[in-house]
Amino acid sequence: MVRLDRVEIIGAGPAGLCAAILLKNLSPRIQVCVTEQNPAHATFGFGVVFSDQALDFLQTDDPQTHALITPQMERWRDIRISLHGETITLDGIGFSAIGRLRLLELLQSRADEVGVEMHFDQRLESLQGIEDAADLVIGADGMNSLVRRSDEAGFAPKTDHGGNHFAWFGTPRPFDTLTQSFIKGPCGELNAHHYRYAPGLSTFIVECDAASFDAYNFAGMDEKHSAEKCRELFADALGGAPLLTNKSRWRQFRRLWCDSWISGNRVLLGDAAHSAHYSIGSGTRLALEDAISLVNALAAENDLPSALALFQQQRMPVARKLFEAASASAQWYQGFREKMTLPLPEFAFSYLTRSGRVDKQRLRGLSPDFMARYEGGLGNPADRD
Ligand SMILES: Cc1cc2nc3c(=O)[nH]c(=O)nc-3n(C[C@H](O)[C@H](O)[C@H](O)COP(=O)(O)OP(=O)(O)OC[C@H]3O[C@@H](n4cnc5c(N)ncnc54)[C@H](O)[C@@H]3O)c2cc1C
Repeated sequence: MVRLDRVEIIGAGPAGLCAAILLKNLSPRIQVCVTEQNPAHATFGFGVVFSDQALDFLQTDDPQTHALITPQMERWRDIRISLHGETITLDGIGFSAIGRLRLLELLQSRADEVGVEMHFDQRLESLQGIEDAADLVIGADGMNSLVRRSDEAGFAPKTDHGGNHFAWFGTPRPFDTLTQSFIKGPCGELNAHHYRYAPGLSTFIVECDAASFDAYNFAGMDEKHSAEKCRELFADALGGAPLLTNKSRWRQFRRLWCDSWISGNRVLLGDAAHSAHYSIGSGTRLALEDAISLVNALAAENDLPSALALFQQQRMPVARKLFEAASASAQWYQGFREKMTLPLPEFAFSYLTRSGRVDKQRLRGLSPDFMARYEGGLGNPADRD
């Protein structure tokens, strides 16, 4: 195990808090400090969703945290696609969800229990002072990472964004399953991605291309007016429920990948190192898995450079696969307007295969009812494999 006296973690998101807890589990004598710009009980957004096996990966490395979080999750088996008001069910996909704030509060309480020093409401503008006193600096500070910006040449980030815009709302309407609603409103096409994350609350993310964004003049509206406009446009899906805001300004999803996650005694985790479009529900899981992998590497090696190299070597290929799947999924959303002319089963099949990770064979096992319906409707047997 690498000898560490003091570790400084920037950012108390899922990556930073999970790394802090695991470091304390590894050795209670390590002084672990987390600095976070937000207050302890505040964050952006609403709920986050996890695909299929949810948090199973956490069970081996931190059973206590796993046991704390999983009973609080909402779960469902099917996805529903609604296109111009007509719906189809994609059976057997399986997801679970939790409020982002709830997840962070549970991680904070666990971090507190194991003796992590947490400093909230403190935005770091520089690493000076922090770095000198620490054996290891963990940049778990998200998409605009200060740690990454401290050595752009070393971390080699590549970043871009597509043309779509999104706004992350919530609603007190508890949807019974994850639903993707695609509508053509008076000024253009829109998508909403909505699911329950607590008994009486759901996430409601609205996404549209640049043409719809301009046509509805969302750039000219504040959060409240955007929420009101989207509530009108998605009145059927919302069944009259309002949209709630929490830093819900319109944004464009940034794709980010760093070619190196290490610079001296600094290491990047989670969104600071790589993003994953929310449509595949993996950003939080990737952040937590990065933290697990880093701490396992620190346990396996005797010196810091070897541990960091092992972490990067083991973790990067796994994260890269999900990054690519997320990029393919984001790309699918860039062109959803054109696909909305497809018949519903074909549109749904295109949605299901958007990340390039599942083929027909796998889908027949995963989603048998939908595939039977989809393939039953195809005239040409050659299309079946
Ligand atoms: C609309 C939307 C929907 C999403 N939905 C999902 C989903 O359904 N499922 C999923 O798995 N993921 C989802 N994600 C992605 C997920 O939120 C991120 O991938 C995840 O939060 C990454 O965790 P992190 O700890 O790396 O970074 P973050 O959660 O971003 O945490 C970084 C922390 O660092 C702090 N910080 C930053 N700079 C400083 C500084 N200078 N000083 C002090 N503190 C600082 C920030 O305040 C923040 O708390 C979604 C993202 C978006 C935008």
